[in-house]
Amino acid sequence: MRSSSDEPSALGSVKRSLHSDLLHAFLKERETLRKAGWVVSDQESPAWWDDLESPHEIAIAAVLVQLNSWEKVKEAVVYLRERGLADLRALSGLSVERIDSLISGINFHRSKAERLKRLAELYLEKGDELFKQYETLRSVKGIGEETARAITLFAGNVMTVPPSDYLSRVLSRVLGVKLTKEEASKEVLRALGSLFELKLFYAGITTVGKLFCKPRPRCEKCIIRAYCKYADEALRVGGEAPAGVAGGQSS
Ligand code: SF4
Repeated sequence: MRSSSDEPSALGSVKRSLHSDLLHAFLKERETLRKAGWVVSDQESPAWWDDLESPHEIAIAAVLVQLNSWEKVKEAVVYLRERGLADLRALSGLSVERIDSLISGINFHRSKAERLKRLAELYLEKGDELFKQYETLRSVKGIGEETARAITLFAGNVMTVPPSDYLSRVLSRVLGVKLTKEEASKEVLRALGSLFELKLFYAGITTVGKLFCKPRPRCEKCIIRAYCKYADEALRVGGEAPAGVAGGQSS
């Protein structure tokens, strides 16, 4: 299942022990993860995404969340759920206009309604396998690599790691090595051995990126500062960012 894990690491600095330390810190800080919308759950549970209740809800939320706050998205999913419509089979029977009206509180609701309709049509063809099919998900206009991989990991329970800006920025700083999103994703996939670990690691890193590791990091409050080269260096040089890993996209 781990397509890239058998290749030798291009970055010898990424150690299994560091990943274990980070996983341990994320487990210990599960309440902090909860504040960022992540619920540490059984490895195949949909509840990781803020107590969502099914793979359908995760796929719908993944489409809605681009350029929207999580709070708005959760509200929209619950609204659909209360009407029996947080389900791709149910959405497939609705017109784009009707879906649009149901998600009108979401930014870019018209284009999101078109994406949901297409996803729902694909669900009729593929059934639950859709949640595992990266290429099929990518065929939907507007579903990019990160969204497709997020759906396959959290709805399809496929061993994969969404390549996100948070992953790149946080891991680059922790390791003291500049990593692209794709490099960071491959390194995590290579280092971790179970679905639970992948979900916990992704949830933890995203939490750190959202709450602490912003373009200007807040290391003093960060839950993984004990394992971070950037924080260590910054302490030694009196608060200056180490060269090469100070930047980062604003996610
Ligand atoms: S300690 Fe600072 S640089 Fe390191 S991950 Fe946390 S916020 Fe980012």
